[in-house]
Amino acid sequence: MSNITPITTNTRFNVANVRQDFPLLNKKIQDKPLVYLDNAATTHKPQIVIDAISQFYANSNSNVHRGAHTLSDHATELFEKARSNVQGFINAKHCHEIIWTKGTTEAINMIASGLAQGYLKPGDEIIISAMEHHANIVPWQVAAQRSGAKLVVAPINEKGELNVVMYKKLLNNKTAIDAMTHVSNTLGTINDVKEIVHCAQQVGAITVIDGAQAIGHDCVDVQDLDCDFYAFSGHKLFGPTGIGVLFGKEARLEQLPPFQTGGEMIKTVTFQQATWNALPYKFEAGTPNVAGAIGLSAAIDYLNNIDRAGAIAHEQRLMNYCIALAQDMHGITLYGTASNKMAIFSFLLGDAHPSDVGTLLNQQGIAVRTGHHCTMPLMNELGISGTVRASFSLYNTEEEVAMLFTALAKAKTFI
Ligand code: PMP
Repeated sequence: MSNITPITTNTRFNVANVRQDFPLLNKKIQDKPLVYLDNAATTHKPQIVIDAISQFYANSNSNVHRGAHTLSDHATELFEKARSNVQGFINAKHCHEIIWTKGTTEAINMIASGLAQGYLKPGDEIIISAMEHHANIVPWQVAAQRSGAKLVVAPINEKGELNVVMYKKLLNNKTAIDAMTHVSNTLGTINDVKEIVHCAQQVGAITVIDGAQAIGHDCVDVQDLDCDFYAFSGHKLFGPTGIGVLFGKEARLEQLPPFQTGGEMIKTVTFQQATWNALPYKFEAGTPNVAGAIGLSAAIDYLNNIDRAGAIAHEQRLMNYCIALAQDMHGITLYGTASNKMAIFSFLLGDAHPSDVGTLLNQQGIAVRTGHHCTMPLMNELGISGTVRASFSLYNTEEEVAMLFTALAKAKTFI
């Protein structure tokens, strides 16, 4: 939606070219080239995204929908084009099925709090998996407490994959909601969400997919998945923070009560009562994050301009290389060895505390994340309190994988 042409064009995937599009990747940390391996937390932004946001503020800034002037019309046009760009990106049937949110967390809260009001009944069951992020656990705990429903947890196996046999056994005619992650942010496991949705539909459950970790790494087609809801954040997709998306099937969104009330989401208001605006505005109370939506749209343009299949294959190569190097390294324990796995590596080095390993890596210019990764219940299942997590993106290189392991070998000599 931006007027700026990305540097990278839709030819064969070339990581060196891609890296030139991300200014922050040239940064030095501790006088060493930055090796950024914290992409599951957030991704860096290509210049096209940075430019789209600053150009919006420089040339088009205005509030949307309500103005009687040219700038407002222009801002509204950019904002609504961004929505249709998202629609195309995830292949939603209708543009009004795309709701702007602050991110995945707000999107899941929107669904959970809505379904707790009138839809969920005492005795109903909400099924999640043992590998969920807190954002796909706590909203359902609260919804269960409010409605008298029960939270049911499908277990995982020793490789960190969903135990499909147990999952299917747990589904029954009381299962009202099935909320699962597409990709585990801690283990990298890719769930077969199409199959999960299919199973949940057999018992009439509403299906919710947490797409936070999948959206930046794979092509998502919500019509093919046939899920009722799919949530993701812009910042994990090379877009800005503070913007995200809730996709919902039209009929489900129509059933759901608004999350917040106020301006923009109403049709009529008297001092006694109010009626709700049509979709998608019913869920977009207050002034939206216009610049965020435009930035996210630019990120989608960016991805549409690169060889996506090549990028996915590149990430898989990084992951295979990482596994091979880990297998050769004495004293490293991997968590999450699913057959279908994204380039997210959780590990422990001997009995060193993860944060000590993180500090030693940072001293060598390598950015990783340490701790429970907002998956405390999963950590309890694994019997550990945290891990070191290196998470890769399309702009990482095999050289950086090798640098991680050289740095780990050095770190081992200190611990
Ligand atoms: N779900 C998963 C699987 C995640 O990895 C994250 C972010 N770490 C979230 C939900 C929450 O995303 P956000 O903080 O952008 O709302």
